Amino acid sequence: MSEKLTRRDFVKLTSLAAALGAGTKQADAAQNPTGWIDGQRVERIATNCEMCFWRCGTIAEVANGKLLRVAGNPDHPLTKGRLCARGNAGAELLYDPDRLKYPQVRTGVRGEGKFQEVSWEQALDLFAQRLTEFKEKYGPESVAFFPHGVASSFFGTLMKAYGTPNSAEPAFAQCRGPREVAYALTFGEGLGSPEPVDLEESKLIILIGSHIGENVFTSQVTAFAEGLSKGAKLIVVDPRFSTAAAKADYWLPIRPGTDTALLLAWINVLVAEGIYDKPYIEKYASGFAELAAHVREFTPEWAESITEIPARTIRDTARAMGDAKPAVALHPGRHVTWYGNDTQRERAMAILTALNGSWGRKGGIFLPTPIKAGKFTLPPFPESKRGRADGAGTRFPLASEEQGVTNGLIEATLSGKPYPIKAWVIYGQNVLESIPQQEKTLKAMEQLEFIAVVDILPMNQVNYADLVLPEASYLERFDTPAIVSSAKQPYIAIRQAAVEPMYDTKPGWWITKQMANRLGLQAYFPWDNPDQYLETVIKPLGIDASVLRVRGAVAFPGRPYIEDRTPEDGPLFPTESGKIELYSPMLKELGFDPLPRYTAPAEIPAGYLRLIYGRSPVHSFARTQNNARLDSLMAENEVWVNTRTAKNMGFTEAQRVVLENQQGATSLPVLIRLTEGIRLDCAYMVHGFGHSSPRLHLAYHKGASDTQLMTHVEVDPIMGGTGMRVNFVRVLKENA
Ligand code: SF4
Repeated sequence: MSEKLTRRDFVKLTSLAAALGAGTKQADAAQNPTGWIDGQRVERIATNCEMCFWRCGTIAEVANGKLLRVAGNPDHPLTKGRLCARGNAGAELLYDPDRLKYPQVRTGVRGEGKFQEVSWEQALDLFAQRLTEFKEKYGPESVAFFPHGVASSFFGTLMKAYGTPNSAEPAFAQCRGPREVAYALTFGEGLGSPEPVDLEESKLIILIGSHIGENVFTSQVTAFAEGLSKGAKLIVVDPRFSTAAAKADYWLPIRPGTDTALLLAWINVLVAEGIYDKPYIEKYASGFAELAAHVREFTPEWAESITEIPARTIRDTARAMGDAKPAVALHPGRHVTWYGNDTQRERAMAILTALNGSWGRKGGIFLPTPIKAGKFTLPPFPESKRGRADGAGTRFPLASEEQGVTNGLIEATLSGKPYPIKAWVIYGQNVLESIPQQEKTLKAMEQLEFIAVVDILPMNQVNYADLVLPEASYLERFDTPAIVSSAKQPYIAIRQAAVEPMYDTKPGWWITKQMANRLGLQAYFPWDNPDQYLETVIKPLGIDASVLRVRGAVAFPGRPYIEDRTPEDGPLFPTESGKIELYSPMLKELGFDPLPRYTAPAEIPAGYLRLIYGRSPVHSFARTQNNARLDSLMAENEVWVNTRTAKNMGFTEAQRVVLENQQGATSLPVLIRLTEGIRLDCAYMVHGFGHSSPRLHLAYHKGASDTQLMTHVEVDPIMGGTGMRVNFVRVLKENA
């Protein structure tokens, strides 16, 4: 953390963070798809990055079938040639010696990691045979699917065609689900990805628990830096003095779990002082009178005693919104499953966004512009008579049926209710590191009859699989094109193979089609190869596949603000009332608070600290710790503890410690970092470390896993997400 940096330094730094990875320069594929470097004929192939989900445009430079490097694609409309450190480390994933190289069948006991190599023919025959058996014996619902990422869409089609409704990914229940539900309840649609926050045009940026700069997505961090360089003010609400907090005009080191109280007090001030966007609310919103009556009691003085933020600061920051409206970019956050009341907190954020008149306005939240891509005509998917097992749409009434509830599927596997789940198919998802309560997940895996994992690296879950299918990495395969409407200029971008798949790995589309052939589901895959697939998708867009292949992405005119909208964009606020619903009739009907209310988090037990967690600019989740280049930049995480707190616990310098949570779960040894930059009552660590698969030779047992310490969750009753900031740790000396 650079506490003494000026704003200007920060702007430079964040730009640097975006381009981190020395030697990166933009490669001009559009003008020069081939060329010569050091006497070698180099082909430049436009594709996009999958070191995280942002899909920045890249150019892979290849000579003699070998990837030389990955550079940014200047023709990409969103990311414009920028790559972060992880994006620059794509070659190290491709050439990671620990990669899964051949299909494997388990020979040892679950978790032991003993496998026998088999051919693809044998592997796929076995897979199809087992899926057929489960369907005949228990029904297709007995197979649950755990996908992750765009690459999983082919497999998603296969599983739907097979007949299981049970599919769930952490992107919803462990990440942005509450936000999508809350904004859809309020404005009629969620935010999507990338988040359409107009940071570069904003006059006031508000981050609540988001640490942009440490959490790096190239175009977002660039827009953030640009907004600040153009004079935007910055409010950061965070118990930790993050990189962003260091540059804030107001840093609000809030008592964790009390954000909704702060938001309600901000709303109170905007309403009481009449500094909200009155014409906008009168024209577009319903439920203002109910809201005004609801927040009357939630004064800054009321919130001060809860949040530990002075009432004066709450008023000043609310007035800053009043001054900057409508150009107030209140970032909705991304990983927002914190305390189990997360949909209501995000509802308060959506309401505040509406009061500032920021939805659909320059400097606030801009609007998506739909792109009409081509679709295949498929037979209808079979309807399940037994319904879903994860509670989406029933126990959790507003959970996404598309993305499901991972923890709901795990519970159903353990309990056998509403019906038995006998097999899991895991595609690109890390069920042990992405979903809290690892013990439950492991127990569920132990009792399954069959687990198939499609992955690139031998993550720990692979050791529990019966069948392992090694997938080609993103640099070796074609994927569904990215069709992105939540950018100011919507665009289509291609992912295509830069090199042949290494070892005996295969692309996901090929694996899926092979399985469809074996299961008699060919009709759901009416294309023979990626070229045919791409032609169909781009047909209505009037673009040429060869142009897309060379440039990597093609953009279309955007209509990001309310005044740009045309009838083809559909209703401005597709809620039931056609208005912004400050008061939610739908929540009322479902028996939930129609206006958000503050609920207090559990008190921190004596002797413990609240465990909070976040991101590093050089790692993505638990996916990149085995990457040689990224390991050299950050090999392990540290646990941040306030210097005073640490001293009271007997720690006066950096040393290895062990964390023990309130239920006795312990971490691997991890370095303690003594800092003034965190509240006295919190401990913070970067997520994704402490890998327990010995087959990951670089990442194994480096740092500590925060997931291992999340033995308790609070479940959001509206959408089923797991609040994970409800665990507490005490810090023990190593070997104590
Ligand atoms: S932000 Fe970095 S890791 Fe993510 S897609 Fe872009 S370059 Fe890749």
